[in-house]
Amino acid sequence: MLQTCIYWNSESRCRFCGIELSLKNRQTIPLKTPEHLAETARKAHALDGIRHVVLTTGTRSPQGVEVSILSAACTAIREAVDLPVHAQFLPPDDPERLHELKLSGVDTVGIHIESMDMAVLSRTAPVKAAIGLKRYEAAWKAAVEIFGPNQVSSFLIAGLGERPDSIISGSERLADLGVYPFVVPLRPIPGSLMADALPPDPAVMRGIYERVAGILEKTGLAAGRSLAGCVRCGACSALPLYERPEADLTCHRARTSFELNQAFDIRKAVFVNEQKIFETSDRDPYDDNGILLVAKHGPEVVGTVRVFRNGNGNTHWIGGRLAVKKGYRSSGAGELLVRNAVATVKKLGCTKFTAHIQEENVPFFARLGWKGIGMPEPYFGRVHQVM
Ligand code: SF4
Repeated sequence: MLQTCIYWNSESRCRFCGIELSLKNRQTIPLKTPEHLAETARKAHALDGIRHVVLTTGTRSPQGVEVSILSAACTAIREAVDLPVHAQFLPPDDPERLHELKLSGVDTVGIHIESMDMAVLSRTAPVKAAIGLKRYEAAWKAAVEIFGPNQVSSFLIAGLGERPDSIISGSERLADLGVYPFVVPLRPIPGSLMADALPPDPAVMRGIYERVAGILEKTGLAAGRSLAGCVRCGACSALPLYERPEADLTCHRARTSFELNQAFDIRKAVFVNEQKIFETSDRDPYDDNGILLVAKHGPEVVGTVRVFRNGNGNTHWIGGRLAVKKGYRSSGAGELLVRNAVATVKKLGCTKFTAHIQEENVPFFARLGWKGIGMPEPYFGRVHQVM
């Protein structure tokens, strides 16, 4: 859309970017109108059989105006031709603005942070570092709610100076939110501020791809399920080639209100209807402050568990509300949820993790390495063991 960026002639220009270079030899124009793009998409579909459209843009003032520019383009394209559309932009100040894109017909979005290492980001993309991880996360979460898991992506560029371990933990963080971590090797653009940088070693890329593919498998993300855009195309990254078939059961945080509601329904079926521990609902304030994990079989939530901090800033975390749907109780979903709960709180600095375990489930937890603390005691009308 916009082939210009307000940061291009400033200290804040992203060092890997080449957005205005193509204006020099009149290879393109500064702003393509919705009509230009609709006509191009229609012709490209008719003559070349293109299957999806990617809309990218530079940045303009005021912040977030790109969302309106992209929405207008998408509306025109969708009126001209029936093709899925992907749009890329900086996180808007108000994530609610993403609804505008959805209404215009955008199917998938790319909100690219490029590096999860803030020191690296400050050096290579100061604008993105200034926006900050908090605003990126708010935009990713809102986008996943609106467009769905697997339909939101972020580039992570290997070769900017970020360590492979940081790229892996960043990929885990993104995948847990339902954002596809599109890891790509740096391809220095001639004329950009990183023109003399070297691309990463292929052996390093191979190692990163293998580890990120493992994360995708466990969290149920796959390039093939992306409807449009860079992830679906895959030309800039070999990651899709390293992907493995989705695990039978996947586990991650509840990413959307749809998944949350499925988790609450399972808890109600277990703790209200089956066990009659609660009369009408087992929901409490810890649901608002805690983290709900879900186990899924394909798109279906089949189990859930909750973890929360025992007080602000405390490193003691408490687990509970482990519930698995009937029909999946011998599937391994319970074990997967418990192991993921432990891994989740560990990453958040937990030094002590406890749970009240119903007496009949003590052997299951003991098999997973949990140890009893003190004597069994009544808790919510049933005998429980603190472990
Ligand atoms: S904000 Fe986007 S268009 Fe602007 S310099 Fe950075 S990468 Fe390039």
